[in-house]
Amino acid sequence: MEKIVINKDLCIGCGMCVAEHPEYLIFDEMGQADPVDKKVEPQDKASLLDTVEKCPTQAFKVEDIKEENENHE
Ligand code: SF4
Repeated sequence: MEKIVINKDLCIGCGMCVAEHPEYLIFDEMGQADPVDKKVEPQDKASLLDTVEKCPTQAFKVEDIKEENENHE
């Protein structure tokens, strides 16, 4: 399944992704973007990929994550 991944070494906490996708992201205690545990819904993919392009530090990624216990579709 596809999920948002934030590289905390790169994120400067500009807040753009959190503002654009509040259903997917919150701020952590360091003020950086923190993805909630939610898979990317197909209808949100295009706007999330747009945010990948717009993140000023390339910290924001959408990645296909295989989970060992992924036994449902
Ligand atoms: S847009 Fe990029 S730099 Fe800004 S908060 Fe999100 S991940 Fe961090």
